[in-house]
Amino acid sequence: MSILNSEGGCSCGYVRYREISEPCVVHCCHCSVCQRQTGSAFVINALFWAEHVELIQGEVVEFLAPSPSGKGQKIARCPKCSVAVWSNYYMGGIKDGIRFIRVGTMDNPNLLPPDVHIFTTTKQDWVVLPKAATAVDVFYDYEDVWSKVNLQRRNELLNQILE
Ligand SMILES: [Zn+2]
Ligand SMILES: [Zn+2]
Repeated sequence: MSILNSEGGCSCGYVRYREISEPCVVHCCHCSVCQRQTGSAFVINALFWAEHVELIQGEVVEFLAPSPSGKGQKIARCPKCSVAVWSNYYMGGIKDGIRFIRVGTMDNPNLLPPDVHIFTTTKQDWVVLPKAATAVDVFYDYEDVWSKVNLQRRNELLNQILE
């Protein structure tokens, strides 16, 4: 099954979204902020260019929350059941151009396994990463992980912001 046109949503069914492209990258984040915000061991976020995630039903409300960079993130939640479906982080200069889809809200989360494990220095002790997994202590160099096409798009977006 392809990720193209795959869907997801909140737990009450009010918010539904559709992804219309491949993600730039899928993060499994083990930072302490994500652990606290999810009440779990890590969060899996798939990063899409914002316009590649369509809201197809309902609406979201945005809350400002802390992030490891200290610059905060906007978390988009269902106004009825409060489940977070995506967030916008301050992503090395890009604020609103990328949506971090919470992979657990997808109808088929198996479509998006992690490409890279980040903030593994704060990983919970019992979590054992697969041997083949790409893992970094904190964060990675974009050039090492992102495709050429997406790197170019990122640079264009950064240039627009700087202009
Ligand atoms: Zn809901
Ligand atoms: Zn995190």
